Amino acid sequence: MHPAERPPHDLRHETGPFDVVGDVHGCHTELVHLLRELGWHVEPDGAHHPDGRTAVFLGDLVDRGPGTPAVLRLVMGMVAAGTARVVRGNHEDKLVRALRGREVTVRHGLEKSLAQLAGESDGFRRDVLEFCDALVPHYVLDGGRLVVAHAGLPERYHGVESARMRGLAVWGRTTGEVDARGFPVRHPWAEEYRGAATVLYGHTPVEEARWLNGTLCLDTGCVFGGRLSALRYPEREVVSVPARRAWYPRQGAPSSHGTSREPA
Ligand code: MN
Repeated sequence: MHPAERPPHDLRHETGPFDVVGDVHGCHTELVHLLRELGWHVEPDGAHHPDGRTAVFLGDLVDRGPGTPAVLRLVMGMVAAGTARVVRGNHEDKLVRALRGREVTVRHGLEKSLAQLAGESDGFRRDVLEFCDALVPHYVLDGGRLVVAHAGLPERYHGVESARMRGLAVWGRTTGEVDARGFPVRHPWAEEYRGAATVLYGHTPVEEARWLNGTLCLDTGCVFGGRLSALRYPEREVVSVPARRAWYPRQGAPSSHGTSREPA
């Protein structure tokens, strides 16, 4: 199919191999360590893998951590060079609104990104806005066998373009309940997942990446002092590097999967 005719999510023709990376949240040093551990040659504004691998970032590149501009410079360079793909996280969603001058509540680490980006050029901030604004909510890869979305995605929304898909892929769904701290309890969609496609996602910090019904959460809470993790696909090998330190206070305990108390 001609590229112009393909819906934005449709990368079924891209078969990898992929290195799929969980929530980076401005942890630039750890990202460089992880990419090198995975065999990448890393420069400040790009990276390539000698075996022609493609990096896939699961969103939430920004906020909370100390190096959001450096993470963006590296990943934007990789995307421009065709060595990386990125899906949209809820933190990119909110950063776009803030950079457009819309009224947003500046918390959950957005204050860090805005302060760090204030030290960059107007041109860079424009590039960041354009880049984050263009991110798609989910990708279908490898002939339909692999789906990536920041907050995960139930099977009936794979390959669907709709507002409902965007909300689920970027922000996820909550149960309507709140926990003792007043944070929304997230809907455990992965427990109900029975689809054929492997779904890789982030969004909900977990202690350890653990498979559940063909889904895997790769957000191992690096910015909170955990680890930054990637899945080598199709090898299905998890590679992690430890955080140098906790960069941002954890506002909720991590869970095994799906029901994090971490606020959006
Ligand atoms: Mn996140």
